[in-house]
Amino acid sequence: MQLAGKVAIVTGASRGIGRAVALGLASRGAAVVINYVAGTAAAAETLAAVENACGRGLLFQADVADARSCEEMVSAALDNFGRIDILVNNAGITRDNILARMKQDEWQSVIDTNLTGAFNCSKAVLRPLLRQKTGGRIINISSVVALSGSTGQANYAAAKAGLIGLTKSLARELASRQITVNAVAPGIIATDMTAVLPATLQESMLSRVPLGRAGTAEEVAETVVFLATAGTYITGQVITVDGGLLMV
Ligand code: NAP
Repeated sequence: MQLAGKVAIVTGASRGIGRAVALGLASRGAAVVINYVAGTAAAAETLAAVENACGRGLLFQADVADARSCEEMVSAALDNFGRIDILVNNAGITRDNILARMKQDEWQSVIDTNLTGAFNCSKAVLRPLLRQKTGGRIINISSVVALSGSTGQANYAAAKAGLIGLTKSLARELASRQITVNAVAPGIIATDMTAVLPATLQESMLSRVPLGRAGTAEEVAETVVFLATAGTYITGQVITVDGGLLMV
């Protein structure tokens, strides 16, 4: 129970990678704020599993693109648990389209959720983290497409690449306070996000993965939990969890 007494906020924790991260942190003893935007029933399932694992969880509905909602979420975490130690910026969406056809709102909504959302939540946790003077962890869920680019995903790849710039800059700003900031860049992971892709596209994507299969949400969560529990001398890094997809 390396995280006993610690408190984590996981954005987008109702499903997929965020749920696995919430459970992974809870199973190490952390109290977890489970953020979601619309999936109330799914978020309640995550809460039940978190409570099974460690007994302390809190549901918080908030659109991470809205700065005020993120501040309210941080206040709720402090009111309920008294402190914050770990922020996992995981909430993300896709609105895929080739650039020639991409609508302004497809571009903007992905930037707002995937990049500005991480800015909003990071900014909101900063003051309590600094006041506590006990260090901390910020872990941003980027993507391999931030590093490789991806046809039909200019909005998503730009947001995820922006997240890496945010990670490295914040890592430099906060290092002297013993707050580490890292990014995890998953490859093809079996969640709702990839389930909606056409079967032929899924097959062709998987054929490029050296390990020959999609990853699981739990396999991504293992790396996040490692960064949250150990990783004391790791900051400003991007760790790919991709079955070898980006191997060079
Ligand atoms: P997912 O299954 O589609 O789940 C997305 C989560 O984000 C849900 O909990 C959703 O909440 C939440 N969310 C969406 N918009 C939000 C908003 N505005 N405010 C708060 N929460 C919001 O996705 P996933 O595959 O687990 O992906 C998790 C993260 O990993 C994302 O950042 C994604 O870009 C990244 N990633 C995924 C893959 C992959 O292959 N799956 C690969 C690389 C990176 P609701 O349930 O309330 O909608």
